[in-house]
Amino acid sequence: MTDSLYAIYKELGIKPELADKGEIVLEKLKERFDLIDETAEYNQLKVLKAMQDAKVSESCLTGSTGYGYGDTGRDTLEEVYANVFHTEDALVRPQITCGTHALALALMSNLRPGDEMLSPVGKPYDTLDEVIGIRPSKGSLAEYGITYRQVDLKDDGSVDYDGIKAAINDRTRLVEIQRSRGYATRPTLSVEQIGEIISFIKSVKPDIICMVDNCYGEFVQKTEPSDVGADMVVGSLIKNPGGGLAPIGGYIAGTRECVENASYRLTSPGLGKEVGASLNALRDMYQGLFLAPTVTASALKSAIFASYMLEDMGIEVSPKAADTRYDIIQEAILRKPERLIAFCKGIQSAAPVDSYVTPEPWDMPGYDAQVIMAAGAFISGSSIELSADGPLKEPYSVYFQGGLTWPHGKFGILKACQCLLDSEA
Ligand SMILES: *Cc1c(COP(=O)(O)O)cnc(C)c1O
Repeated sequence: MTDSLYAIYKELGIKPELADKGEIVLEKLKERFDLIDETAEYNQLKVLKAMQDAKVSESCLTGSTGYGYGDTGRDTLEEVYANVFHTEDALVRPQITCGTHALALALMSNLRPGDEMLSPVGKPYDTLDEVIGIRPSKGSLAEYGITYRQVDLKDDGSVDYDGIKAAINDRTRLVEIQRSRGYATRPTLSVEQIGEIISFIKSVKPDIICMVDNCYGEFVQKTEPSDVGADMVVGSLIKNPGGGLAPIGGYIAGTRECVENASYRLTSPGLGKEVGASLNALRDMYQGLFLAPTVTASALKSAIFASYMLEDMGIEVSPKAADTRYDIIQEAILRKPERLIAFCKGIQSAAPVDSYVTPEPWDMPGYDAQVIMAAGAFISGSSIELSADGPLKEPYSVYFQGGLTWPHGKFGILKACQCLLDSEA
C-alpha cells in the first residue's frame, strides 16, 4: 500500500496493522476478482444490447404525470427488462414499492381461490409470512382461500425431490423458488440448480407457474432464472438491478400472461400496463440498470473480502470465504449481540450519508424480531449500497451486503473489522 493510502486510511480510523492485513488478504483474491470482472463485462454488454435492441432514445428518459397514458419511456424500459431477462414481457414500475410488494403482486395476481402455492426450498423470505398467511394477516393469500405448502431443504442443504413430488397435487398452481438465502441459514441457489428444480417440477406437472424471488441474485451470474425455465422472475430496484440509482421500484419479468395478470392487479382489471405515470424516475431506472452489472461486481468483491477478513479473525462466516457466490449477501455468525451492534456501527460510520449516527435495534414491520440496520445510503433502505443488518436473535448473525464501488466496500469492511477489534480490546 502506498504512503498516501496508509495516511488516508489512518485519517479515517483504520490502524496500519489492519490495513496491512487487508492487503495480505487481497493478494489471494486476484483470480476470483478477475472472474467477477469477466461476469460484469458480459452482463454489461447484455444490458447494453438490451437497451440498443429496444431503441432507447433521449426522450425515453423523461417521465409522465397523471394517468401516464402513452408513456413510451416506461414502456421501453419494460422492453429493456424483458430483453435482459429474455422474457416475453416485464412490469417495471415506481408504483411497486419494494421487493415484498413485487413478490406479493406476482403471487396475488397469478393465484386464484382454491389454488395452492408451494415453496420447494424451505420457508420463503420473512416478509412473505404475512403475504402467504404463515403468520395471519389482513389480506393474506390464506384469507382468499389460497393454501400454502412447503418442502424444506434436506439437512445437507440439497433439494428434497421426493418431498416435492409428494407435495405437488391437483391444486398446486404456483411454485415460488427463492434464489438468495435472504435472512436464512441455507445455501443460495445457483441459476443451474434453479433450472434443475424447475425442470423437475414441470416434469411432474407441466402447467405449474414457476416463479423465482430473484432479490440479490441479479447479475451475479451470466444467466438468470428466466434463462432456465422460470415463468416469472421478481425483484427490487433498490437492490442489484437498480444499480444504486433507481429511487424506488420493483420488477416482474416473465411470460406475457403472468405479467398481464400482475399489471391488472397493480393498477386495475382492464387498465393493466396502460396506466401508471413514471414521474421523474425513468432516467435513474435506466442509468441504474446500465450500472447494475459493475455495481453488483463491487458488492460481490466486498462480500468475498469481508468473508476472508472475518474468517481470519476467527469468526464463522457463511458462505465460507472459499465458496462460490450466487448472491451478494455475506453472513457472519457473531454469536453475541454486542458484536452484532459493533459490526453495524462500523458499517454505519463508513457511510457517505449519516455516518455520524449510531444504528439502534428496532421493531421493523414484517419481521418477527428486532432488527439492527446500518445503512448510510443515498436511497433510503437501499441494500445494494453498503449496508449490514441482522435480527437480534440467536445466533446474532449479521448480513452484510452491497457496496456501490469496490473501494468503498473495502473501506467499510475494514471499518467494521476495526470496530469489532476495538470493541473487544
Ligand atoms: C430483500 C428481499 C426481499 C424483500 O424485499 P424488500 O424490498 O425488503 O421488501 C424478498 N426476498 C429476498 C430474498 C430479499 O433479499
